[in-house]
Amino acid sequence: MAELRLDPVQRRWVITGKRPSLPAALESGVECPFCPGNERFTPPSVYERKGKDGQWEVRVFPDRAPLFRIEGELDRAGEGMFDRMNAVGAHEILVATRRHGVTLAQLSVEEITEIVQVYRDRILDLKRDHRFRYVCLFKVQGRSGPPTQEHSYSQILATPVVPSLVEAEFRWSQFHFRRKERCVFCDIIQQERESARRVVDEAGGFISLCPYAARFPYELWILPIDHASSFEQDLAAEGRAASLAEILKTSLQRIERLSLRLRMVIHSEPNMDAKRPSEDWWSTIREDYHWHIEIVPELEPDLNDFGPEGFYFNPIPAEEAAVVLRALEPAAADPSQE
Ligand SMILES: [Zn+2]
Ligand SMILES: [Zn+2]
Ligand SMILES: [Zn+2]
Repeated sequence: MAELRLDPVQRRWVITGKRPSLPAALESGVECPFCPGNERFTPPSVYERKGKDGQWEVRVFPDRAPLFRIEGELDRAGEGMFDRMNAVGAHEILVATRRHGVTLAQLSVEEITEIVQVYRDRILDLKRDHRFRYVCLFKVQGRSGPPTQEHSYSQILATPVVPSLVEAEFRWSQFHFRRKERCVFCDIIQQERESARRVVDEAGGFISLCPYAARFPYELWILPIDHASSFEQDLAAEGRAASLAEILKTSLQRIERLSLRLRMVIHSEPNMDAKRPSEDWWSTIREDYHWHIEIVPELEPDLNDFGPEGFYFNPIPAEEAAVVLRALEPAAADPSQE
């Protein structure tokens, strides 16, 4: 059983220990455990969205080799000066479609709307568990092979700690707000809209842009134009999921013209209903923070791995990347529109 350990110097949580191994389903001749008809090779669904024919369209179930387990107590403990706790949490797999070998970008706006709604509903549901301080939703596409041979899925991690990368965003957003009484992301959006140099799309109350100091070539962020700290609450409003689905599809299509391998993550506020370490734990987050989606294509060769000290090297400045992305016609090659 894995456990969480805190690196007291970098204030970073590390999951350490053995991960359960994948069950033998893969070796038993089943080509894809995510395909319809192969449900018995994965744990029972925790959530299904059914189509008109009564069959699932989107399916969510616990990972077969979860990094976190849902049962049990955290058992926060000190070990001398160190801190540890059990890796209690949720690790879920969200299968986005019945169709094998189709990427998220190739699905219709209606299908992506449903998926975005399931993202929202899973985050809302997991945040009802007071043990979990953060819910992370991400997607890695094409790492284990060409996406045309993969079954599109996303992963959801609900954790008793806030991951260090997003905690750093919370902290520096708070820092900006305390000095200027403005949200740093709202400031970014305002300035980028004025200059328009790094903006790629704007539609339905959302904007996509290449961040000024992009870490990776063609890194793209999608943000709501109106201030909102919580993805799941913002998306609860009528019509929001469909608007997001539209710009998400366009953005992924543009990125896929460069690379079918990509990463995507949703950054949202922490679980404000969690059992908190103190009363004032991220108490100003709703003013300070602004949810967003980060998308990064994985280009060959990997150009940005620069040294061990956390520097990034990106040969393509954001304004040049935006010019390229704007010119890539999203609707051009879309095999799903049969
Ligand atoms: Zn499949
Ligand atoms: Zn804002
Ligand atoms: Zn972020």
